[in-house]
Amino acid sequence: MKDKIVVALGGNALGKTPVEQLQLVKQTAKPIVDLIQEGHEVVLAHGNGPQVGMINLAMSTASNSEAGTPEMPFPECGAMSQGYIGYHLQNAIREELLNRGMNTPVATVITQVIVDKEDPAFKHPTKPIGSFYSKEEAEVIMSEKGYDMVEDAGRGWRRVVASPLPIDVAEKETVMALIEKNHVVITVGGGGIPVVQEGNQLIGVPAVIDKDFASSKLAEIVDADYLIILTAVEQVAINYGKPDEKWLKELSIEECNQYISEGHFAPGSMLPKVQAAMKFATSKPGRRALITSLEKAADGIEGKTGTLIKM
Ligand code: ADP
Ligand code: MG
Repeated sequence: MKDKIVVALGGNALGKTPVEQLQLVKQTAKPIVDLIQEGHEVVLAHGNGPQVGMINLAMSTASNSEAGTPEMPFPECGAMSQGYIGYHLQNAIREELLNRGMNTPVATVITQVIVDKEDPAFKHPTKPIGSFYSKEEAEVIMSEKGYDMVEDAGRGWRRVVASPLPIDVAEKETVMALIEKNHVVITVGGGGIPVVQEGNQLIGVPAVIDKDFASSKLAEIVDADYLIILTAVEQVAINYGKPDEKWLKELSIEECNQYISEGHFAPGSMLPKVQAAMKFATSKPGRRALITSLEKAADGIEGKTGTLIKM
């Protein structure tokens, strides 16, 4: 069966530096092009944690230095990360397609994701970003810039931003028009640039949308059949990292709920993936989600490995 598949790439698909990333995406492109070659429609989403962190740090260091560059707001840092990650991905996927005799067009859409300004997450910012400061420095920054800052595990003070839920994808019509024309689209990079809607205005907010939730929302919007979350592990486990660790081939929604309540999935890593998978799998009959590793993507889609989550 030919499916419309949203593939969400995790941090391990992109590497740690721009040079490393450019090399690594050549490998990342292979399993993605395998899916395209099999006739599936593929839409690509990806994370940006380390990349947006690096841009944010570089820009704030430069603006605090003699160079005196202007300050770069956090949503703009997110847009920059979508741009250069998208460039690397579209470049590598295009090359891999051409190597296999396919000339499917590939492009990145700089994507804004709408969040609710009343989202309770804004009252409890949790995502640390940027450099560490002393208590005194942090107090100055908090009063001058109005940032939320917290003490981070004894290492110093750090800015924190909220992690609100995605509501809608502003560029969804464009994304769907491209899919319709058989283009490979890279979208909602880093979970999307978070924006709040005020009348005709979309206003960027300093926040981080979880890329797993944004991918799940995207998959619903484009009416995908399949959400594939590619990460560093081949399967989801219960008792992860313990002697009685058990890798799971399939998870029903009931099992997901039970294991979540028992605390089997780490918040900030596996928990959002399982929740995003559940949300998509329950959004319409027939939809299913798979969590597996980049290396095992092909085996996963053939049902040989990975953790399948379906109603
Ligand atoms: P990504 O960059 O792909 O979002 P994350 O590091 O956020 O990756 O999440 C994947 C990680 O979640 C795995 O590498 C693993 O270390 C961790 N993890 C936490 N709980 C579990 C679990 N129950 N089963 C499998 N992996 C888990
Ligand atoms: Mg993650």
